[in-house]
Amino acid sequence: MGIRAYLDWNATAPLRGEARDAMAAAMDVVGNPSSVHAEGRAARRLIEDAREHVAALVGASPRNIIVTSGGTEANVLALTPGLHQGESGACERLLMSTIEHPSVRSGGRFLVSAQEDIPVTGVGVVDTDRLTHRLAELGGSRPLVSLMLANNETGVIQPVAAVAEAVHAHGGLVHVDAVQAAGKIACDINSLGADLLTISAHKLGGPKGVGALILANEALHIPDPVLKGGGQESGRRAGTENVLGIVGFGASAQAAHDALADSAARMTAARDRLEARVREIAPEAVIFGANAPRLPNTTLLAMPGIRAETALIALDLEGVAVSSGSACSSGKVARSHVLAAMGVPPELALGAIRVSIGPITTDDEIEMFLKAWTKRVMGLSRAKRGLAA
Ligand code: PLP
Repeated sequence: MGIRAYLDWNATAPLRGEARDAMAAAMDVVGNPSSVHAEGRAARRLIEDAREHVAALVGASPRNIIVTSGGTEANVLALTPGLHQGESGACERLLMSTIEHPSVRSGGRFLVSAQEDIPVTGVGVVDTDRLTHRLAELGGSRPLVSLMLANNETGVIQPVAAVAEAVHAHGGLVHVDAVQAAGKIACDINSLGADLLTISAHKLGGPKGVGALILANEALHIPDPVLKGGGQESGRRAGTENVLGIVGFGASAQAAHDALADSAARMTAARDRLEARVREIAPEAVIFGANAPRLPNTTLLAMPGIRAETALIALDLEGVAVSSGSACSSGKVARSHVLAAMGVPPELALGAIRVSIGPITTDDEIEMFLKAWTKRVMGLSRAKRGLAA
């Protein structure tokens, strides 16, 4: 591969050096963390140290971190009917925003008949009036409300703390999918008012296939673990721990936490420069969610008339890796449920491409995108309109 610009950090972030080094060092630890001998205890120490770093990133107690195989599993584990806190009644109804990640939209283990949608506004923020109205209608029935902290496609940040206050006032519990937010903006479980919080290592610069569901306190009880068997993760997630993955997760969480303010400032500056240039080059381009608070690293934009898959391939040929708002695993571009929920017309939504950067994204990479986008995407647009390139 020649020189490339990787601008798809929301899909996955490159592995941080700290995570790579920590995992390389852990490779020689042979023990099973459940074994009582010295080898086992050495492995146990590694995962408990990592747990502390993950806990520090979100302001939680290490005891309340349930390590999983990633954000998807953590979300499914959170969405368990019968979830309760201490002696309080169990959550038997799930309310979720229409822009959640598919792993939340699937409803976890709630029956379809127990799931309800909460709409979002045109800028991609959950409709808090509709939510509070619905909470009032439900009376004291203790719903579980699942709301992401930031959307993976638009980067739009949700008013989680205000929502949590309203939900708690009605006796419900709040699950927050913070997979895209963690490491990009402050993500403190207590300031957010979240009862359960999901994060994923590979979005922070850790390895793929490891994440965590974090509980705000020990009184929270998930009645039915997804994986039952051995007593790992305090009986909440069975299976011999992914020691290497957890070590990489811990190191990436620590590095992300230490660099948070600096990374956010760098990404905001780069992203704002990119958007200003796009607006200069093509005033007709649409930047989704631009009028809402957003993550510092995400731009979702469309050039009217140009399909995302055409743009993606053309940009890839120029050495620039971006994604459509909603690539399915088949690699085909489907209509984004997020943009549909925001009321974006289908023709425009099908043109959405997501540029997501990281703290080490360089000015040259941004330039590469702008050059490629001007040449290829603007070129196609001009050709479509019958203008000379
Ligand atoms: N939630 C959000 C908002 C995401 O963006 C993703 C991944 O893209 C997930 C959950 C799933 O996380 P994982 O890939 O670790 O299963």
